[in-house]
Amino acid sequence: MAEPELVDVVVVGLGVGGEEVAGRLAEAGLTVVGVERDLVGGECPYWGCIPSKMMIRAGNTLAEARRVNGLAGSAQVRPDWALVAKRIREEATDTWNDRAAVDRFTGKGGRFLRGSGRLDGPGRVRVGEQVFQARRGIVLGTGTRPSIPPIDGLADTPYWTNHQAIEVAELPTSLLVLGGGAIGVELAQVFARFGVRVTVLEASGRVLALEEPESSGVVAAALRADGVEIATDVKAERVDHDGDTFTVHAGERSFNAEQLLVVTGRRAHLDELGLDTIGVDATQRYLPVDDRMHVTDEVWAVGDVTGEGAFTHIAMYQASIVVAEVLDHARRAEGGPDASGTASVVGGAMGAASAVGGALGAVGPSAAGTVPRADYRALPRVTFTDPEVGAVGLTERQARERGINMQVGFTELSSSTRGWIHRTEPGGFIKLIADADQGVLIGATSVGPAGGEVLSALVVAVHAAVPVSQLRHMIYAYPTFHRAIESALADLS
Ligand SMILES: Cc1cc2nc3c(=O)[nH]c(=O)nc-3n(C[C@H](O)[C@H](O)[C@H](O)COP(=O)(O)OP(=O)(O)OC[C@H]3O[C@@H](n4cnc5c(N)ncnc54)[C@H](O)[C@@H]3O)c2cc1C
Repeated sequence: MAEPELVDVVVVGLGVGGEEVAGRLAEAGLTVVGVERDLVGGECPYWGCIPSKMMIRAGNTLAEARRVNGLAGSAQVRPDWALVAKRIREEATDTWNDRAAVDRFTGKGGRFLRGSGRLDGPGRVRVGEQVFQARRGIVLGTGTRPSIPPIDGLADTPYWTNHQAIEVAELPTSLLVLGGGAIGVELAQVFARFGVRVTVLEASGRVLALEEPESSGVVAAALRADGVEIATDVKAERVDHDGDTFTVHAGERSFNAEQLLVVTGRRAHLDELGLDTIGVDATQRYLPVDDRMHVTDEVWAVGDVTGEGAFTHIAMYQASIVVAEVLDHARRAEGGPDASGTASVVGGAMGAASAVGGALGAVGPSAAGTVPRADYRALPRVTFTDPEVGAVGLTERQARERGINMQVGFTELSSSTRGWIHRTEPGGFIKLIADADQGVLIGATSVGPAGGEVLSALVVAVHAAVPVSQLRHMIYAYPTFHRAIESALADLS
């Protein structure tokens, strides 16, 4: 067996979270090996957030142009998907090439390795024939892949995941979208606005089943207004493809279209990571971490793989904690001050001194105080349909299930001046969930033309536990969408 090569840190998976951790630790002077088997940057820039939001931006301009007819005159719109596909190819993804991202990482001093990494015992990572001994720690940022349900026949068909949906150069005439979660409804609306006949098949009773029922109602109405058919309570049993047409069979019902997009959730693949070699159970759905992202003493995880929320902002948030943690560990191992407030020096063999001692003084977390701990109470999430659905913290149902003595406040956006001027059809609202005993908001939803932006005020309120009494005595600019928050607060009961 090859002699392990001694480095400071190995980061396995350079998606959003891993790339951030690896780059910042390399900048801090650690010797960092970053391992990525596909594209550096991961799902978000190539098949996720960025290209999908480019598609949504394009679909929204079409919808806005069509609104001219009711508000300002007349307009005819001729959608052209080629422009969208070109923008995604050229501006967003460099034709799915990560050379710029690799250069960015190596430019920070990191060492890049293309391949699949797996743990190979405590402190060790194997990439093909190469083995690394990481004396400061290992970071796993291996993300998730689409979770494909075990529906009879599906695996043998040329169905799409989000990858093919984002890469598509020519649109099909019709599309079945299996899964009415955030990704499903976003893509359904875009494709419908470009003239595709879209049907959403959702297993539960409503789209966006994890959000407030009122959000589901508004989004379903918006999709229908765009010509999308929505079928709920569809338990798909079999999928056929005859070369031209997909057919999804569900009980007495069946649905046909030229293409089938499967967006039924995502799943981590822990079995590939060699977790058994460090005594961690690989049969779990996600990799559990503590509030400093530890899997074990010197193995950290970031991003979707942790199961704390499949969002880029979660991966980035966790990455900043891991960077602070690894630097703190390294500093303590070098005999520097303890930034975390915990006394123990974790970790075994520390090799020859590296650049770490000097660099840490300038970049490390101790200057700022303690290493932060993860807190997801005010986790924001936005579904970028039109109208947007922004939400933070608990839904009414979650608060009830936790037995919280709660108050609910609700207001329709159309009853606000701005909503009325704007004609917020098919709807929009602000819904607030307050902990009546504590007198603070613990959840909120903002649906509307700028629902994700209006959400920011509510995120601050939940995050900082601003007393409801103070929120009621704030000044809300007139006539903004966010001014509706005041009415929802007045409705809290
Ligand atoms: C269509 C779509 C739209 C989305 N829109 C949004 C949005 O608007 N806002 C938002 O916040 N989030 C959005 N997301 C979610 C967001 O993309 C993810 O939360 C984010 O990419 C997670 O980053 P990550 O670093 O955890 O994982 P990933 O981005 O999945 O990266 C993990 C990387 O690890 C690599 N890898 C895995 N195993 C190994 C191994 N053994 N060795 C080497 N490399 C490995 C993979 O190749 C991959 O590149 C969207 C996702 C999708 C699919």
